[in-house]
Amino acid sequence: SPVIEDAPRRAAVQLDGVTKKFGGSVALHEAWLKIPSGEFMTLLGPSGCGKTTLLNLVAGFLDTDGGEIFIDGTLVTETPAHKREIGIVFQNYALFPHMDVAKNIGYGLRMRGVPKAEIARRVEQALALVKLTGYADRRPRQLSGGQQQRVALARALVIRPKVLLLDEPFSALDKNLRGSMQVELKEIQRELGVTTIFVTHDQGEALSMSDRIAVMSAGRIRQIATPDEIYRRPADRFVASFVGDVNVLKARLGSRQSSEAVATVGGIPVIVPAGPLNDVASGAAIDLFVRPEHIQLAPAGEAGTLRGTVSTHIFQGGHVDVYVEAPALSRDRILVRLPGVDAITRWPVGGQVGLRFGTTDLTAFPVEGDP
Ligand code: ATP
Repeated sequence: SPVIEDAPRRAAVQLDGVTKKFGGSVALHEAWLKIPSGEFMTLLGPSGCGKTTLLNLVAGFLDTDGGEIFIDGTLVTETPAHKREIGIVFQNYALFPHMDVAKNIGYGLRMRGVPKAEIARRVEQALALVKLTGYADRRPRQLSGGQQQRVALARALVIRPKVLLLDEPFSALDKNLRGSMQVELKEIQRELGVTTIFVTHDQGEALSMSDRIAVMSAGRIRQIATPDEIYRRPADRFVASFVGDVNVLKARLGSRQSSEAVATVGGIPVIVPAGPLNDVASGAAIDLFVRPEHIQLAPAGEAGTLRGTVSTHIFQGGHVDVYVEAPALSRDRILVRLPGVDAITRWPVGGQVGLRFGTTDLTAFPVEGDP
């Protein structure tokens, strides 16, 4: 398989308490982040949370208002962007329309004064890497969206960057193309081992592509962890709600034993991590967060279950989403995700069911508004 000669050098990125303000408002508040060499790190969060700001600070397009940035162990806080040896891919590709594909890809090398013959060779390798061999003479407008994005990726990688930065690179592509580009990017990134920071607001994209995810909200990093940990052990209610579907149920805190706590939901005991409940008094109301695949349905009245009424089914192809009303447990309808179509006939709309909660991967947080 094609590999860019002298694959991009491995490097690590480190942010030590980096802050950025625009006027009076803080776009990024004391971000601490260590990205080991070769890692695929995703910045995930809603619009306006500061993802692009963080990326632009690493790239050197913005000056910090506090804190330090290191690339490859070298302090770069004051280093201009063009000396940071970073490859960038933007959402809108930003290809030069008047240049053909080869000229677009070779642009950074020409700027660096690389000899012509070497440019030609490296552009050819980069084209092979992104599966566009034979497209060197095309203009950007003669390419599909996915092809243009591959040219942008080749252009970013051809300079052998220390770090690859990607800002929502697939958001302009349709769903199927986005899926295949995600797989391709992941393969290329793994093959080259280039340290990558990927920005997205799409939690599915973040969960499927990343080695680790930094979840952000309102200028702050809320949690940095593997996709699995983010999903199963969210640090706070923002992370729990933003990543994946979740039901919020009324519960009560019981006893606490070191790292675990017993909560009761409708009188039934469940085990949750104690960490997020440190400031909550025993007996107080808490919110239990349960993923839809961690609830099972049983005949109404079965021991150990709580009663609800089926309100809707939604057929999702591989699974069925069943919505259950149980006002005593939740002000919203409870989403239960069941494999197989037979759930639709087994649990008819309007029928009573018993809800059974899983014993793993439950989390609980103080009720909204409490500390
Ligand atoms: P999106 O996904 O919509 O791009 P984001 O998470 O990347 O959002 P940022 O673009 O980093 O968010 O913006 C963070 C905050 O900083 C926002 O409140 C935004 O309005 C503000 N901001 C960003 N750039 C500037 C600027 N150049 N001048 C003033 N405010 C800015």
